Amino acid sequence: MGVGVLKPAFANIIGQELARKILLKAVSGAKISQAYMFKGPAGVGKRTMALAFAALINCRAAGPDACGRCPSCKKFASDNHPDFMEIVSEGATGIKIDQIRDLKSKLAFPPFEAAHRVILLADIHNTIRRPEVANSLLKTLEEPPPDTIFILTVNEAAEVLPTIASRCQVVPFYALPFELVRQRLEAEGLEPETAAALSKISGGSLGRALAPESRELLSLRRQVVELLVYDLNGPLPIPELFRLTETCANLKEKLAYFFELLGLWLRDLMLFAIPDQEHRMVNIDLVHLYQARREGWQLAELSDKLQALSLAQKQLRFNCDRRLVCEVLFLRLL
Ligand SMILES: [Zn+2]
Repeated sequence: MGVGVLKPAFANIIGQELARKILLKAVSGAKISQAYMFKGPAGVGKRTMALAFAALINCRAAGPDACGRCPSCKKFASDNHPDFMEIVSEGATGIKIDQIRDLKSKLAFPPFEAAHRVILLADIHNTIRRPEVANSLLKTLEEPPPDTIFILTVNEAAEVLPTIASRCQVVPFYALPFELVRQRLEAEGLEPETAAALSKISGGSLGRALAPESRELLSLRRQVVELLVYDLNGPLPIPELFRLTETCANLKEKLAYFFELLGLWLRDLMLFAIPDQEHRMVNIDLVHLYQARREGWQLAELSDKLQALSLAQKQLRFNCDRRLVCEVLFLRLL
């Protein structure tokens, strides 16, 4: 993630006041749990918070935040502290049993230098649906080695095994306010219009807004919307439709995210068709395209279009041919 350039410290975290409060209180009261579960949407700062927390509890300066200058903080800043271990899930399958075994063999030894070794188990929601991995992880949490803190991250909707959840203090994370995301995107060097559009359509996920594919999808969304609001007096833009179908089909796994963006656009059109709802629209960079076609949209027709989209999303989940799904969808949206 692009935000990695900032030093791990609470001062550099945007939003997440409740999580910040819970963790800082634990540090100041010297009541640090042996296991935390950071629960919330993807890309809102769970890993960044884990790093800041690990840096703070190991900082030699003993201030209210990680100092960024002591030897421990410097290692966290270069993302290479020997006592911060990160176990990353691989796609839909989650963490593998071998990764847990490997972790256990490392935990048999004391920390290299840290007062508190921190183990980050990222995105474990898929992992804990698999009994052998869940049980192995549970045993580790039940008998934690001394000086070791576990941080498990899960997405907001995940159902977590009660046996695992009961071992952890749950720390809630939330979608970030659009304005905070927009400011950070501008600070990362994005043009104001792109930053504003991305902050809105990312749903308050900075990670999603900063992902390399987001800008690509943003530009494709514009092309598709331009196609869909084509000039009614001209010919049907069939060649352009096939070109965009091809491009969209080639998005592969990212196509589902792209369909979400189209859903936001259709929702915007519905808001646009209702008086005084324009302030709730998210595709603010496309409003001029709506203006030109204002008279064309009826709520009933838009509702048909939304249904066409949800059918396409369903077909995608059932692994239907992407090109065919896009072709049918675009023809129905036209
Ligand atoms: Zn320090």
